[in-house]
Amino acid sequence: MRKVYVNGDFKNEDEAKVSIFDRGLLFSDSIYEVTSVIDGKLIDFNHHMKRLDRSMTELKFKSFINHDEILEFHRKLIEFNNLKEGMIYTQVTRGVVDRSFDMPKDVIKPTVLAFTQEKKILESDAAKNGIKVMTLEDMRWKRNDIKTTQLLYASMAKSEATAKGFDDAWMLRQGYITEGSSNNVWIVKGKIIMTRHSDNLILSGITREAVLKCAKDLGYEIVTKNFTLQDAQSANEAFITSATALVTPVVKINTSKIGGGKPGNFVKALRAEYIKQALETAI
Ligand code: PMP
Repeated sequence: MRKVYVNGDFKNEDEAKVSIFDRGLLFSDSIYEVTSVIDGKLIDFNHHMKRLDRSMTELKFKSFINHDEILEFHRKLIEFNNLKEGMIYTQVTRGVVDRSFDMPKDVIKPTVLAFTQEKKILESDAAKNGIKVMTLEDMRWKRNDIKTTQLLYASMAKSEATAKGFDDAWMLRQGYITEGSSNNVWIVKGKIIMTRHSDNLILSGITREAVLKCAKDLGYEIVTKNFTLQDAQSANEAFITSATALVTPVVKINTSKIGGGKPGNFVKALRAEYIKQALETAI
């Protein structure tokens, strides 16, 4: 039985409640962050908080939540649930108000909830063996830069991929790969690393930013630009990044094996470098 956080209180997970009039439930009018926990410590917490504020600003939320308050309930959740490795999910909704497409003009109290989830992060099977992805058309809206809980298409895409024996879906928009269902995409060609440029069509990952720095530290040339399915299928290596996947190799895209179907040396080195830097700055 986990302890979870809801609106200032810690409750047993089966006792936590939110209103049926919450705009997060009725309109997906809410945003979230997932911060990974390794050795009981939070990875990249401050950057996740900056993006939380950005998401709220983009959706014109009128109330913000103090970062110290958020850090405090994160630390308590880790302690109460004795979380060593996994993640903390935090969601902030616009709040509770009578149902209307017109967003409330008054300041209303946001709903804030958070919970822990255990997950193998450092020694996952995906990191060891790599994952297989299939491409699907990107049918999401055009504000994927905001981390909203409007995740239905991403969830449908992931489910279609796993039903067909793949691990995830890479999404294609006008011939270019945008991102995975819940991660950013990368390919390696020779000494050049490519990841899609960030704009309104993808979420600018916190891990992506950190990994860009790690790749530079390892002396690689980085190009942040669109790439096609053909570019990806002819790459030497491919990988994804996200808070809980860290750097995870991709060994198959549709019917094409990448790097002979095994994780490559560059991805392994980059993952190790990212883990090293992430642990140095964990709080
Ligand atoms: N893109 C999408 C669509 C995502 O859902 C995520 C994970 N939340 C990412 C990219 C990676 O972001 P981060 O590195 O901040 O976890």
